[in-house]
Amino acid sequence: MLYSMQDLQRGLEGHDLVLPSGVKGVWGRGEVMEDIIRRFNDLVSRETKDDGAQELQYPPVLARSLIEKLGYLDNFPQLAGSVHSFFGKDAEAREIARKAREGEDWEAMLQPTDVMLAPAACYAVYPNFSGMLPGKGRLISVTGWVFRHEPSDEPTRLQSFRMREFIRMGAQEEVVAWRDTWLERGMELLKRLGLDAKSDVASDPFFGRTGKMMAAQQVEQRLKFEILVPVISHEAPTAVCSFNWHQDHFSGKFGIRTAGGETAHTACLGFGLERVAIALINTHGFDPAQWPADVRKQLWP
Ligand code: AMP
Ligand code: ZN
Repeated sequence: MLYSMQDLQRGLEGHDLVLPSGVKGVWGRGEVMEDIIRRFNDLVSRETKDDGAQELQYPPVLARSLIEKLGYLDNFPQLAGSVHSFFGKDAEAREIARKAREGEDWEAMLQPTDVMLAPAACYAVYPNFSGMLPGKGRLISVTGWVFRHEPSDEPTRLQSFRMREFIRMGAQEEVVAWRDTWLERGMELLKRLGLDAKSDVASDPFFGRTGKMMAAQQVEQRLKFEILVPVISHEAPTAVCSFNWHQDHFSGKFGIRTAGGETAHTACLGFGLERVAIALINTHGFDPAQWPADVRKQLWP
């Protein structure tokens, strides 16, 4: 049986797993919650230690020019987060502070900086690999904070959360085979943790009317798959891991080529770390010390 959305939220807060901020989809992680997240991420690292991934680390912001080049605003303007700051002189500084103190609109006195909040952990990676790939392509691993402007009361839909991603670049067949293998592997990993996981073809929340067509095409071409676990409901299970085959979308923009000189293909997979943790909590209970021994053994070896 699943907790209702309210009971889940109350339980997460009552057990100090989640520390609310007053903003929807933005909360602090308590010690135990963070331990679950870290342990799951470590389990993924152990499972993949022989894969030969290059582990990189990026900040949670991206160059504004990269967001433009990726066409993010064509597809997901509703999710974007922009970093603005103050560029004025003394008099304006006094004015902005006064406005904020007195509850007036002060944001209009800010101007855009060179950065936006990262909407996916993998976006920073592609521009770093322009040029020719080694013979077998590349495999990259990143864990990063991402922002998506989708305020919600669902405890599993956050504005700021972490993704553990793997990014594969190479020849089309290699990349597709990697994605297919990982779909099985991801399912096996999550099922071993006692999660009632299933996979399905999926689409991204492209904006507006043309977006509906893009989403339909994405499904038709089977470019996106998700692993879903019932958290809020059985009818609409929650995506805990996604697999995206970008074809030559990123490699074309950044000139990423195979050793044979052709435009490479790329694919990524991303575990939503907070979602995996909440799915585990929802399945096994609010106190990890009481979780089944075979689940605990894997996360706390
Ligand atoms: P996506 O890039 O949309 O395929 O997302 C990758 C993974 O991040 C998904 O499978 C989810 O597990 C997680 N995720 C996506 N959106 C959210 C959100 N708003 N809150 C928490 N996790 C999310
Ligand atoms: Zn990605």
